[in-house]
Amino acid sequence: MAAALSAQQTPTPEPANPQGASSSSQATTQRAPKPEDTEVWEPVPKVVTPGANCTAPPSDAIILFDGKNLDEWVSNRDKSPAKWTVADGILTVNKAGGNIETKRTFKNYQLHIEWRVPENITGSGQARGNSGLFLASTGPGDAGYELQVLDSYNNKTYVNGQAGSMYKQAIPLANPSRKPGEWQTYDVVWTAPTFEDDGSLKTPAYATVFFNGVLVENHFQLKGETLYIGQPVYKKYTSAPIKLQAHGDRSEPISFRNIWVRELE
Ligand code: MG
Repeated sequence: MAAALSAQQTPTPEPANPQGASSSSQATTQRAPKPEDTEVWEPVPKVVTPGANCTAPPSDAIILFDGKNLDEWVSNRDKSPAKWTVADGILTVNKAGGNIETKRTFKNYQLHIEWRVPENITGSGQARGNSGLFLASTGPGDAGYELQVLDSYNNKTYVNGQAGSMYKQAIPLANPSRKPGEWQTYDVVWTAPTFEDDGSLKTPAYATVFFNGVLVENHFQLKGETLYIGQPVYKKYTSAPIKLQAHGDRSEPISFRNIWVRELE
């Protein structure tokens, strides 16, 4: 056990103090620190039952797609029922059907999604299995913040546009892509930006992304919404859908499964 310093004991002056200021008046009034001083007991984190593996939804997740239907999704274009294909427990992009987005809106969250580029994929660069996960859909088309989905297994493109990139903003820290035909996972933590009443930025957005269990974005601070041309800019929003991209390239459509989200305070 550490010996307690007597309240009357004058501490030895610290020779390293460059200003030469004495700290004796402070030290003489301090009591000995205790372990309890730094214990925090409330609020108690809620108990959550983890899934049987690291991909199954935990008990407090909102299930966005479980293989059965698109009840949680609408067309981004006109909010009509989403027209992508559900078959054999998976969701496949219908490029003619346009982007789809969740009916619900979100601020901060943890998200899990699985995606698969078809084994017979063709094309190259950005025209090979391109889709996207918009962490916040702030309007029609591709408005929002896009985490790129692409076949990046032996497929060269600009690195801030490959799978795991925050499109045109953040190069992934690694490329853990699996080959076409295999399922891949994204696990994302999204911290939504906040705005002042006048629309100016209060706090920026951050994204942390695990790609097939590998950290590819580490609390990356975004510069604004994703833009194909030009520099990213922030636009005020408070709560937004999550959106999946029907990219216009000619390659075979990719598929998704097992999509769930946990809202965060
Ligand atoms: Mg894309």
